[in-house]
Amino acid sequence: MRVLVTGGAGFLGSHLCDRLVAAGDDVICLDNLFTGRKSNIAHMLGHPQFELIRHDVIDPFKFEVDQIYNLACPASPPHYQFNPIKTTKTSVMGAINCLGLAKRVKARVFQASTSEVYGDPAIHPQPESYWGNVNPIGRRSCYDEGKRVAETLFFDYHRENGVDIRVVRIFNTYGPRMHPNDGRVVSNFIVQALRGEDLTVYGDGLQTRSFCFVDDLIEGFLRLMKQTETIGPINIGNPGEFTMLELAELVIEKVGGPSKIVHRELPADDPKQRKPDITLARKHLGWEPTIPLAEGIERTVAYFRKEIGA
Ligand code: NAD
Ligand code: UDP
Repeated sequence: MRVLVTGGAGFLGSHLCDRLVAAGDDVICLDNLFTGRKSNIAHMLGHPQFELIRHDVIDPFKFEVDQIYNLACPASPPHYQFNPIKTTKTSVMGAINCLGLAKRVKARVFQASTSEVYGDPAIHPQPESYWGNVNPIGRRSCYDEGKRVAETLFFDYHRENGVDIRVVRIFNTYGPRMHPNDGRVVSNFIVQALRGEDLTVYGDGLQTRSFCFVDDLIEGFLRLMKQTETIGPINIGNPGEFTMLELAELVIEKVGGPSKIVHRELPADDPKQRKPDITLARKHLGWEPTIPLAEGIERTVAYFRKEIGA
């Protein structure tokens, strides 16, 4: 198959490209390299099944492809808040451009949505039927609302034009190829610990997140694209739930060294808890995560040790 991956030079996108190339697909990786890096895909450059195209998803594009994965969008709060208007444009116009192309070439099209559509959730754990609790005018809104509109567009193109869609709601994912300056909690804590610095826990550290190792997540993507039982939206994430204090302690234990925990101000609208209900993923995809947090953190520490030379 010929497959277009937008955001393919990013953390998740590059792992997805790896899996697609290994499965024998021809992959077009379209990326403006805002948060993505050539080094994530350097090993595929020159491969006959792989092509990098530097392009912005807000500008239209045309390719003859069988499948489209739309991942282009900065994902970490400091990056998506850097130019919030551009973030909303990327989500909304990127979705329109992918859907327009999918409609024209009759491709199956996948949207990387997010647990952020649930906002600061009033229901716990979050099932796909929950409509969320999102601030429409806050610092996180450019991302959350952009992703919500993208979901709306996907379902309207499906209903109005019969476009063959798949929508996944991704919960916090971590692993090799995260950017050391990404700003997300797992990369921050590991890089701080490897440098012997103190780990910056925002607020009291009792807020929770559920962390999925990247290999598990990508397996969920591929299963969703392959099957015809559901179009989503479907949660993919690890239902193990940890406080940021527990995560900090685990990272300190795995890295060793002199680091301690220090507290910093909690960012605005920081969700208090997050945990996926993965009943639908189990039922329709036969999917569940296989890599426990302690093992995934060890593998990620090994990557960052090399990456930052610590
Ligand atoms: P990332 O920042 O590493 O990757 C995003 C990629 O998109 C980068 O390569 C970036 O250069 C590219 N990009 C950004 N704006 C673009 C534009 N306008 N045109 C073309 N390319 C553009 O982030 P990631 O963690 O790999 O996330 C990938 C997708 O998954 C994103 O859509 C994100 O919202 C979603 N997601 C990720 C997580 C997670 O925990 N990693 C959680 C929920 C949702
Ligand atoms: N966080 C933290 N220290 C950091 C970075 C993040 O305590 O150095 C917290 C952050 O406030 C949030 C959680 O970790 O409660 C997850 O943050 P991240 O930015 O990774 O993802 P998101 O908030 O989008 O789930």
